[in-house]
Amino acid sequence: MLGLMQSQQLLISSLIDFAERHHGEAEVISRRVEGDIHRSNYKQVAQRSRQVAHALDRWDLGFGDRVATLAWNGYRHLELYFGVSGSGRVIHTLNPRLHPDQIVWIINHAEDQVLCFDMTFLPIVQAVHSRCPTVKHYVALCDEAKLPTDSGVPGLVSYEAWVGRESTEYDWPEFDENCASSLCYTSGTTGNPKGALYSHRSTVLHAMAGAFPDGLNVSARDAILPVVPMFHVNAWGLPYNAAMIGAKMVFPGPAMDGKSIYELIESEKVNFAAGVPTVWQMLLSHMQANNLRFSTLQRTVIGGSACPPAMITTFSDVYGVEVIHAWGMTEMSPLGTVCTLKNKHLELSSEDKLKVRIKQGRGIFGVDFKIVDGEGQELPWDGKAFGDLLVKGPWVVSDYFKAEGPSPLVDGWFPTGDVATIDADGYMQITDRSKDVIKSGGEWISSIDVENIAMSHPAVAMAACIGIKHPKWDERPVIAVMKKQGVDVSREELLAYYEGRTAKWQIPDDVIFVDAIPLGGTGKMQKSKLREMLSDYRLPNT
Ligand code: AMP
Repeated sequence: MLGLMQSQQLLISSLIDFAERHHGEAEVISRRVEGDIHRSNYKQVAQRSRQVAHALDRWDLGFGDRVATLAWNGYRHLELYFGVSGSGRVIHTLNPRLHPDQIVWIINHAEDQVLCFDMTFLPIVQAVHSRCPTVKHYVALCDEAKLPTDSGVPGLVSYEAWVGRESTEYDWPEFDENCASSLCYTSGTTGNPKGALYSHRSTVLHAMAGAFPDGLNVSARDAILPVVPMFHVNAWGLPYNAAMIGAKMVFPGPAMDGKSIYELIESEKVNFAAGVPTVWQMLLSHMQANNLRFSTLQRTVIGGSACPPAMITTFSDVYGVEVIHAWGMTEMSPLGTVCTLKNKHLELSSEDKLKVRIKQGRGIFGVDFKIVDGEGQELPWDGKAFGDLLVKGPWVVSDYFKAEGPSPLVDGWFPTGDVATIDADGYMQITDRSKDVIKSGGEWISSIDVENIAMSHPAVAMAACIGIKHPKWDERPVIAVMKKQGVDVSREELLAYYEGRTAKWQIPDDVIFVDAIPLGGTGKMQKSKLREMLSDYRLPNT
């Protein structure tokens, strides 16, 4: 017997409809590329997202076609989030920090038909457009007056001219909630990047869980600053759950430095912010140097890489701001765990509370996790045993977009590539990454890519890249190199060799020449041993 409740698909269009109807006046504030502050609200965002839908119809974009963005966090990007997905197309957020060759590969793999970009990224578009045959339309996210006449980008139109003439009335289509809504590629630590293809259902459920008090705990009383980019896992879902609960949104645009972020928090009365540790490090340095205090900020979610305990205590003890440590990944939309206390912890001393808070957190309804040993046997939740972390749930990938190989799932569980412990209260703590990617400023650098370039140099016999702690960027890559006998290469020559072969920020900070790189039984490089060998090593200029 079926229940007798109304059947309504969970669609992204319903989020912006709700925001317009119930929170139309709630503000959407953006720092623009030009540096000025733009003021909008959910009513205007809703109207303009419907104009986007019309504009895409006019270009005959089909259901499920991909519309790519190269854009900062801002109101136009938000309008595209709702207009593209709401009308049944798929928004594909590109990471502008990737090397142009990687961007070309991803655009071609996704078969993007439209590319919308902030003017900051015009040079990238100029460099890649001739190699992107699927892209039929280019849209610069600017006013008509700001559109360059000689960009060289074929058929370039300004966003305002493109959507401006369209009607603000539009009937969002109804379709199966399992249809694709958005696409985000992982950085591809082994081989090519992989596309996580989110659905309307997964996005709406993820947004709902994110709003829970034991999730990100957001409500209509909040002014939210997502410093985490909208091009990186949809800014952790905040654009969606903010619309779902009618929170004020404050977008930082391209200005991520401590001073700009601080000024925005103060001027827009932000009480909740989210970002990776490196961004908060810049903010804290700025505040310490200028003896500043927050007048409204109450909570900040920190994730993307491990949040140092000192950052949690500085925020709480010096600035009275609660840090919520969270963990997730692109393949998980991204929310996996959030570290909030349980009732039993409330009486603990602040020292003991900190021991809980530094963990990556406990499960939220919708994500289940387990740790397993090398044989796949589940390990106990005792806070000591560590093993490979596997997850499952309705906002975890079941496969990658256009995947050619076997499904990544193991008996229905997705292997995260992280190694973790879980304690008796269900708090998960990452102990290591089974992958050896380097996290620099919240972005991943593939150690294999860095090694492959070194290995292509005629004087290099073997090369191993590892991340070394950096006070500002979290980690920076260094490359350990074993030279071929009888051939020489200097540190400077090798670093110069990287120029033009990879993005500047992916070039290692240093080259360390070694007699041998430690190898394991099967001939694989043992990076853990290498790290031990280099435990006293310090990066230049730190
Ligand atoms: P991405 O898919 O780029 O978001 O990266 C996901 C990976 O970042 C995870 O698999 C972890 O290795 C790492 N990560 C994310 N959040 C945390 C955290 N709070 N602590 C430690 N590592 C994290």
